[in-house]
Amino acid sequence: MKSSTTVFDGGNCIGGNKIHLQAGETGIFLDFGLNFKTLGMYFEEFLKPRTATHGIQDLIALGIIPPFEDIYREDAIIPGMTIKSGMRPKVDAVFISHAHVDHTGSISLIRPDIPVYGTHMTAVICKAMQDCSRGGLEGEVAYYTIRVIDEKNPDKITKKSKDPCISRSFSLVDRHGETDSIQQFWCRPYSGKELIASPLINSDGIVKDIPFEAIPVDHSIYGATCYVFDVGGRSFVYTGDFRLHGRRQEMSDAFVRRIKQISPDYLMVEGTNMGSHKGNDTIKGRRASEDDVYLNCLKATKDASGRLVIADFGPRNIERLEIFVEIARETQRHLVITPKDAFMLYAMNLADPNIPDILADDVIMIYDSGKSKEAKWESGFIRQEFSSKYITPKAVKAHPEDHILAFSFFDIANLLDIQPDGGIYIYSTCEAFSEEMVLDVWRLGNWLEHFGIEPVGFKIDRTGGSPGEAEIEFTPGYHASGHVSADELIDLIYDVKPKAIIPVHTEHPEIFADRFGKDFEVILPRHGVPIEL
Ligand SMILES: [Zn+2]
Repeated sequence: MKSSTTVFDGGNCIGGNKIHLQAGETGIFLDFGLNFKTLGMYFEEFLKPRTATHGIQDLIALGIIPPFEDIYREDAIIPGMTIKSGMRPKVDAVFISHAHVDHTGSISLIRPDIPVYGTHMTAVICKAMQDCSRGGLEGEVAYYTIRVIDEKNPDKITKKSKDPCISRSFSLVDRHGETDSIQQFWCRPYSGKELIASPLINSDGIVKDIPFEAIPVDHSIYGATCYVFDVGGRSFVYTGDFRLHGRRQEMSDAFVRRIKQISPDYLMVEGTNMGSHKGNDTIKGRRASEDDVYLNCLKATKDASGRLVIADFGPRNIERLEIFVEIARETQRHLVITPKDAFMLYAMNLADPNIPDILADDVIMIYDSGKSKEAKWESGFIRQEFSSKYITPKAVKAHPEDHILAFSFFDIANLLDIQPDGGIYIYSTCEAFSEEMVLDVWRLGNWLEHFGIEPVGFKIDRTGGSPGEAEIEFTPGYHASGHVSADELIDLIYDVKPKAIIPVHTEHPEIFADRFGKDFEVILPRHGVPIEL
């Protein structure tokens, strides 16, 4: 059987994975993510692609998505637009490795009759993210609304507010004991609009000619999985994003054991941390682990006794949230999360009962920002189900020493209602690597100074007054990477001994050739160029 793989995006960059695998007449995509780097070359927060009216036109024109014929939704192609590229990869399924947007973000643009495959956890996270989103064309991973020609502007498309949402076909790659509550969540509309739902499907481990196996991996989001495909008798492993230094060591050990046993013909592996990376996830040349983060954040919280603690960690990083639940318990504080995080936590607990159950956990509370108009998922669900967990700014203000606020920079305006008198802000997320992020940290510094709050995990010298003159320094040990370290990856590869290595999700594919070239076949993918398997 003739087989090949083509990396269309996500090869020599981090994120935006769109990797095609073909065996005989069967074709699948491994992830169909949004490439933030390409998007950021043209767009920013206040300059967005005109998808609401122009569908995928701008994205194709600027090369943000490849000009595939016959893969994108017909209702997202405006009248008069034709895609003529000769690129027609066969697609029988799209496999999601995990629910980070750089791996899932462009699934919303593909035809809804193409089934999506992923874990139970990935399904609920995609659904919860969409339920809480504003409902643009880019976010329709779990369900979609059919766009129609705009009667007033017949060369454009529009969305009719009364039109229902329709579930995408989603097949589950992992087994699960109890699934009723997950199915109910998947089929329930939380946005206030009608949902024509179809339940999640249990896959039978094969897509036409391609049998597959899913192996759970540890990453900075739950539900991440590595896939093994049998392409005409050869084994092809796609690791997705993973790490080996997380807290779920048994899962990582089992993953390594299984990959070793398979001894793959092709190992397509992520290489985010290959190269001269120095970040706030490194302590003296060593990767910080989640346990380092726990110990450092615990100490900072203990040292802040009597004062307010604010903990800033990435969205949907529930493992980090669990660390702060532990810290809150140990320091006799409440962990106050945003309603959005509460919704995500609720959904994720359905897929994994080890994740804190908001009602049962006396440490967790939900911040009541007192917004006059709440979104339907909050007013109609979170506020109904978890009303006893809500806490007002006034209550936090009265006893700042009893609380840890799980806020990010974008929640910082809430401090105006709390009016804290000092405290600490723990920066437990990846350091700023773009100009916009540096600008945000500079603004964050101004907020903290205004309220006399001490930053932990970063230092900022703003003597110059303008963001350009500010010096920001991130302190290691308050954040751990979601990706395998270079040293561990080298050990893993020599342990597993694949016949060939195909690096992806890395800015330094050439390091793979230098480091492994003498012992293994290393195939460096070029975007859009097929690799025969
Ligand atoms: Zn990821």
